Amino acid sequence: MMIPVRCWTCGKVVANKWEPYKQLIHEQHLSETAALDRLKVLRYCCRRMLLSHVDQIDELIDSQVNRQKHQQSRATN
Ligand SMILES: [Zn+2]
Repeated sequence: MMIPVRCWTCGKVVANKWEPYKQLIHEQHLSETAALDRLKVLRYCCRRMLLSHVDQIDELIDSQVNRQKHQQSRATN
């Protein structure tokens, strides 16, 4: 789902780092370690929050759209 706003362990705000983190990895092709260092996410508890997050919102939207299409096709047949 969405990334938690704060680190579960120390409480530092990490949600604002998610988009820059993705940009550094996908557009500038940095490693995860280099991206986290550049964003000054230095505590391992906070690094875990970004490293372990899986952004599933796009998959959920796609599955919902496919489900609606499937229901519409069943209704017309
Ligand atoms: Zn932390």
